Amino acid sequence: PETARLVASRVLDVPDFPKPGVVFKDLMPLFADGAVFREVVDGIIAHHGRESFDTVVGIEARGFVIAAAIAYATGVGVVPVRKAGKLPRAAYSASYALEYGEATLEVHQDAFTAGHRVLVVDDVLATGGTAEATMDLVERAGGTVSGFTVLMELGFLGGRERLAPRPVHALLTV
Ligand code: IMP
Repeated sequence: PETARLVASRVLDVPDFPKPGVVFKDLMPLFADGAVFREVVDGIIAHHGRESFDTVVGIEARGFVIAAAIAYATGVGVVPVRKAGKLPRAAYSASYALEYGEATLEVHQDAFTAGHRVLVVDDVLATGGTAEATMDLVERAGGTVSGFTVLMELGFLGGRERLAPRPVHALLTV
């Protein structure tokens, strides 16, 4: 569809970033194009339905950009899921394995009203480790994950299977 074509038109492939052998999908050109960014954000909202969530979660850092736009356009609040050590108050932590080492994400313990439906947003779904840890945090903090949405999914890395049966939406799958 049109939104998939738009995403494809505004992504740059960066070879050997952040390390040799990896091709990084850079979506900064999409964020920088006002008309495209608006159309993409509107496309995400249209897919999920503006009545289908009560709060939006953005995953640090590119998820913040998309989540804030969805929140503003729909009139709901936005909650950040941050890398370890950045949040000022009591937080839940979730650690997950990276290819080398470990990463930790955190959310404020009082971030959600009990039962609020939470749409989780990021730019790219790769292995799904980041999304899985984020959904765990949202649920521990009392939210209900209504869905996970990304601009681009790297289908060959199996993130969607790892997150099943939770609903995953990608504007573009490569
Ligand atoms: P995962 O945990 O392996 O699914 O990786 C997803 C996380 O890493 C997300 O927060 C993405 O922003 C980031 N990420 C992984 N690969 C890429 C990429 O190719 N482009 C942009 N972000 C990426």
